[in-house]
Amino acid sequence: MTINLQSYSLLREIQSLDVSIKKHMDRIEAEKLRLDQINRMRSTRTGEKEELLKSLEELSDTTAAKEKELFTLDSNLKQAKTNLSSAATNTQMEALEKQIRESSVQVDALEEEILNLLTNSEEIESAVNEHDEFLQGSLETLEVIKKEVNDIQKVEQLEIDKYHERIERVSQNIPENLFKSFQLARTKHRFNNPITKIKGNSCSMCRFILDSQTSSLVELFKTIEFCGQCERLIAPLEA
Ligand SMILES: [Zn+2]
Repeated sequence: MTINLQSYSLLREIQSLDVSIKKHMDRIEAEKLRLDQINRMRSTRTGEKEELLKSLEELSDTTAAKEKELFTLDSNLKQAKTNLSSAATNTQMEALEKQIRESSVQVDALEEEILNLLTNSEEIESAVNEHDEFLQGSLETLEVIKKEVNDIQKVEQLEIDKYHERIERVSQNIPENLFKSFQLARTKHRFNNPITKIKGNSCSMCRFILDSQTSSLVELFKTIEFCGQCERLIAPLEA
C-alpha cells in the first residue's frame, strides 16, 4: 500500500468518527454526573445527620444531669417544708422560709431550663427525621436513575462500538506507517483534530511556522510529517 490522497481522506474519516464517539462518551458522562450529584447530596445529608445525632446525645446527657439536680433540689424543698411545720423557734422558721423561697426560685429556673432542653431535643429529632426521609427518598430516586443511566450507557456504548468497528475497517486501507504516525498524533489530540494542514507557511491548528520544503514533500506524499509544535500529523492540502 502506498500513501496517497485517499490514505489521508481515510484518516480524516477516522478523525470525524472520533468526534462522533466523543459525543456519545459525553452523553454517558453527563448521565453519570446526575448520579454523582445525588450521591454528593446524600453524603452531605448523612454527615449532617451524624452531627445532629451527636448533639442530641449531648443534650440528652445534659437533660439527665439537670433532672437529677432537680430531683435533689425538690427533695430538699419538701424536707424544708416538713421541717417548717415543726420549727421550734422564730429564727428557725425564718431560716427555713428563706431556704424555701430560694429553693423554689431555683426549682422554677431548673424546670424551665429542662423544658427548653426538651424542646430543643424535639426540634433536633424532627430534623433527624427530615434527614431520614430525604435519605430514604433519594435512595429510591438513586435506584431509578441508576437503572436509567445504565440503559442509556448501554445504548451509547453500542453506538460507540459501531464507530470503533468502522474505524477498524477504515484503518485496514491505510498504509501501516501512515496509520501508526496518525495514532501518535491521535494519542495527543484524539478529540481535537489530530490532523492539520499547512496554510500559508504555518500549521493551520497552532500557527507554528513550517518550512516550505516540508510542505511540498507532504504534498508529494514523499514524507510523513508532524507539526513541530503541536505534533499533529500534517496532511496534504486537498486531503
Ligand atoms: Zn501545529
